[in-house]
Amino acid sequence: MDTIYFDNAATSFPKAPGVGRAMADLIENGAFNISRGGYERSYELLGQVLDTRERLKRLFSAPKDACVCFTGGVTAALNQFLKGTLSPGDHVIVSSMEHNAVMRPLYTLAQSGVEVSVAPCAPDGTLDPQTVRDCFQRNTKAVLCTHASNVCGTILPVASIGALCRERGVWFAVDAAQTAGIYPIDMAGMSIDFLAFPGHKSLRGPQGVGGFLVTPPLAAAMCPVIEGGTGSQSDLEDQPEFLPDKFESGTLPLPAIIGLRQALTALENGTETAYRHEMALTSRFLEGLSAISQAKVAGISDPSRLTERLGVVSVDFSLTDNAELAYALEQEAGVMTRVGLHCAPRAHQTLGTFPQGTVRFSFGPENTSEEVDVCLRAIRKILSQRPVFLSAP
Ligand code: PLP
Repeated sequence: MDTIYFDNAATSFPKAPGVGRAMADLIENGAFNISRGGYERSYELLGQVLDTRERLKRLFSAPKDACVCFTGGVTAALNQFLKGTLSPGDHVIVSSMEHNAVMRPLYTLAQSGVEVSVAPCAPDGTLDPQTVRDCFQRNTKAVLCTHASNVCGTILPVASIGALCRERGVWFAVDAAQTAGIYPIDMAGMSIDFLAFPGHKSLRGPQGVGGFLVTPPLAAAMCPVIEGGTGSQSDLEDQPEFLPDKFESGTLPLPAIIGLRQALTALENGTETAYRHEMALTSRFLEGLSAISQAKVAGISDPSRLTERLGVVSVDFSLTDNAELAYALEQEAGVMTRVGLHCAPRAHQTLGTFPQGTVRFSFGPENTSEEVDVCLRAIRKILSQRPVFLSAP
């Protein structure tokens, strides 16, 4: 049986053309270190890493003086922002659609006296910027919100929230885990001080690399969470203050960065074609689901509101165990999905799908409308045998 990969919100597959080859070439032909070795091949590799940083800055319309810092992924980047910026007595605002990559570090920070406000989103995941405005306090230091929900794909109004933060002189951080590489991000235009991105989702690079872009004033104010060797100022025992070294201790994941560089090259012609394609698949899927009475779409279900969402669709199959349905989908038609709470319990509470969770279908540029149709047919068939899957009363 052919397989159908609808779990691109977790990680994209297949990766962009040439990513695996670029990584294998590096590993087999010279995975040297950078900023450590004084030889030509090390400098060559350093040049490729610099080029990767420049490509990311262009893609995200970063301010000229912003810096790209690599981390292992979005989780590490968000921990750096939260733990490096907030101190006891500070107040931070987040949305109610955040991933646990935000909520868990905040839980820890709250134990030590950081105040947290959660701006409530509507049951379709949308956020009225006024609710963020209402959360501001005298001691508000930062606002952090996801650009789009990893549960239901709803896009949050980051430009409006960024403008509010500028007005108040508050740091603004955005979790671009779901939008980087598929949806336009204008870091300067959206007044973003800190942008966390993954290499392995819609950028279609490998797992193991992500990072953040940061403006110089925030970089100066933020403490590094990880300190260590940088290959620079090695005569000193304190951490360099300059960028990116302040936030990049230890050897970088160079094969993953080179893979990401290849993925960014493939994106050179823009993200628009992939975006249009994924939204066409989303529209077709939502239309199909609307005729299935047991399929309750969490978030925005109306295909006429496509501009408010991405191609991440969560479905709660009422009267049916979602986990069993997801299992049956793979057995029946090879469809791979992600079932459960998607590391975002607060988002599921907002959407009314907690604690049962949902089956999440997320599309990528190489999915086809035929695959969507196969999936819809399989859902209808499985639900027609529904008694097998009835949950306990
Ligand atoms: N934030 C959101 C919205 C996500 O969807 C994810 C991953 O699914 C993360 C953060 C964490 O990303 P990573 O696992 O790449 O660190």
